[in-house]
Amino acid sequence: MANKTLQFTYFWADEDVMQADFAKKYSQAMTDWAVDFYARYGFDVEVNPPPDNKPHVLPLSKFALQKRDGIRPDMRSSDEQNKALEERRKRVEEDQARSEKAKKQAEAANNGPEVKRLEAELDDLRRKWFAVMDEIIASYNRDEYGLRELLMLKYLNDRIVHGERFTVVFCRFRYTGLMQMRMPERGTTGQTYDKLTQPIVRFYGSSVVLPLWSGSFAIIDPFRGDRRNVAHEAVHAAGHAHPFGQYLQSVEKRYRGRRLPGRAFEPSRDRSLAPDYDDPAFDFDETPHYAWFRGGYDDGPSNDLMNYTLQDPEPTEVNLRPAHVDLMNGAYFAK
Ligand SMILES: [Zn+2]
Repeated sequence: MANKTLQFTYFWADEDVMQADFAKKYSQAMTDWAVDFYARYGFDVEVNPPPDNKPHVLPLSKFALQKRDGIRPDMRSSDEQNKALEERRKRVEEDQARSEKAKKQAEAANNGPEVKRLEAELDDLRRKWFAVMDEIIASYNRDEYGLRELLMLKYLNDRIVHGERFTVVFCRFRYTGLMQMRMPERGTTGQTYDKLTQPIVRFYGSSVVLPLWSGSFAIIDPFRGDRRNVAHEAVHAAGHAHPFGQYLQSVEKRYRGRRLPGRAFEPSRDRSLAPDYDDPAFDFDETPHYAWFRGGYDDGPSNDLMNYTLQDPEPTEVNLRPAHVDLMNGAYFAK
């Protein structure tokens, strides 16, 4: 069966990134990899700008989103920064729960003035909660919205962004110092942003309004990514997300402090703890042990395109699972 043609458009964050990428031929290697890989499943891959053995920045400069100082997506935001915000959100929620409880007690005691005071306190906490939420949303979206704005300008000025093509932006990612050291030289380091579910506009002064580019697009660090990165992110763009969450791995049982022999649960992704032991004769402690899905590391067999385990595999060493062949045929960028 002849499969469809997958249509990609590449951009670079700025001309420096473009220059450095061309010198090392990293995005070219990712294209070659994707072409060879998808050919095994009967897909053609068509890239704009078309691959060139000796590409030069000057004729391709319209594919740079900015001339210089392009956006460097902050990869800390998904980790450390958000953890700190999560903490703040938790504290506000705890304060809220405490005030709610005190308010109920004051109501029960018919203490009018105290109820009034607590109501004001709750209003204040509600405002604080919204402020924290705004901050969380802003930190999630800062880089994404910046890139969406630039893509929209490309669409308006050059008509080289298309809703029916998979858009990739090559940019240098920013990591914290420690993470920078721990990062492998290569790896699967891209990220795909989903299509916006509602339009977002940006205001310039009082009269100029710019809607942000709303389509799905991927960011890829060409200086760190595996060669399979473009092919990998394309499956995300077609609709596949890595599994995420925790599952019950085993339950340890102790009776009066002594560990009971017994069968641990087989690792299972959907098993939940059933409270079978209400009888006081079975008066022992249970400690459930959970394991986390490690995103891409638990995504299909280790030789699947979407699994992170193999380091920079050849296009013949990993596979596209049948469900993903269907997904790619139905993708918005398949023609
Ligand atoms: Zn992935």
